[in-house]
Amino acid sequence: MKLDAKVLRYMTPEDFRVLVATEMGSKNHEVVPSPIISQIAKLRHGGSHKVLSELARRNLVAKVQHIKYDGYRLTYGGYDYLALRTFCQRNSVYSVGNQIGVGKESDIYIVANEDERQMVLKIQRLGRVSFRTIKSKRDYLKNRKSASWMYMSKLAAEKEYAFMKVLHEHGFPVPEPIDQNRHCIVMELIDAFPLRQITEVGDPGKLYSTLMNLIVKLASYGLIHGDFNEFNILIRESGEAILIDFPQMVSIDHPNAEFYFNRDVECIRVFFKRRFQYESMLYPKFKLDTEREFSLDVKVAASGFTKEKQQELEKFQEEEGQLAQELGDDAYRPSDNEEIEDESEEESEEESEEEDNDEDEKENNGAEESQDVPVSIG
Ligand code: ADP
Ligand code: MG
Repeated sequence: MKLDAKVLRYMTPEDFRVLVATEMGSKNHEVVPSPIISQIAKLRHGGSHKVLSELARRNLVAKVQHIKYDGYRLTYGGYDYLALRTFCQRNSVYSVGNQIGVGKESDIYIVANEDERQMVLKIQRLGRVSFRTIKSKRDYLKNRKSASWMYMSKLAAEKEYAFMKVLHEHGFPVPEPIDQNRHCIVMELIDAFPLRQITEVGDPGKLYSTLMNLIVKLASYGLIHGDFNEFNILIRESGEAILIDFPQMVSIDHPNAEFYFNRDVECIRVFFKRRFQYESMLYPKFKLDTEREFSLDVKVAASGFTKEKQQELEKFQEEEGQLAQELGDDAYRPSDNEEIEDESEEESEEESEEEDNDEDEKENNGAEESQDVPVSIG
């Protein structure tokens, strides 16, 4: 799914009202019946019909034929649009630039505000794993309370923003969080390379202990990153390490805290051995090195990203992770016309548009690999 900033320019107030009505309607309906959209948008019956067709043509909503009624649902394009519009209204974003990253679960863009300050827009795209190849997908989805990609992506963005905020406020080396809305966050652009691209460092031992100390300091503040690897550590030219990517952070009180902590430590040990032939007898141990002094986990919960939300997102992430493992290379991102929520509908439901989007498949190759340019630091 590509972010199309141009659509922003061609929206009438009426288009916008209908789009918001579709979003509101989708809180209670997987496929929002057209009359309900008209009603919420306060347009006379049938009045939204033309607008909806136009929005569908621009891929902001998708028409879905249902056994009982025809209706629409918001697409990622529509959801992106609504978030961007909110950022524009709050003056946090003025223009959208190049895409700089494609992860399994996010798209990363450069954006700027009116003062031409460049920033990063991270769009969460949860629910990209395809269910097409799984026979038991219906059973699987039945056990899931909410399989909505929209809701889960929003939770992930809320979580990332909440953690980035408390970490930044407490002096951790993370990007400055700037704004959050729906499934998107805006943050400081870090002028640095992912550790993954660094082929040489002046003093690997120094960087190694900086990173291990960071893991220990996080733990002393009650937190474990959970994905502390060479993709999520950016290294400035000065050698400073900046930590990014927080949707999987957990509290040190998590039942699997020790597992996550050790995995983070191990990631760094393995990487340093492989990349820099650097090995140390010294590395943090969960039982010895995780003396809690502060409770940022509690602060995050108090900031509105509650324990319940945390658990809900975690459950979804675990299921997705399992599924991606089962599917291996077959796991791919569904196009906007093929999202999981529609597949959980009753047998009788038919989708109106089933075409695959080549672009989407291409993007899934992962930009992190392709932009691998060797860099040496220090
Ligand atoms: P994902 O969840 O998809 O892994 P990340 O937050 O790790 O998303 O971002 C993916 C990539 O985008 C990173 O590896 C990094 O290269 C780039 N990136 C992300 N955030 C920033 C930022 N604030 N400044 C500079 N580059 C960034
Ligand atoms: Mg990452």
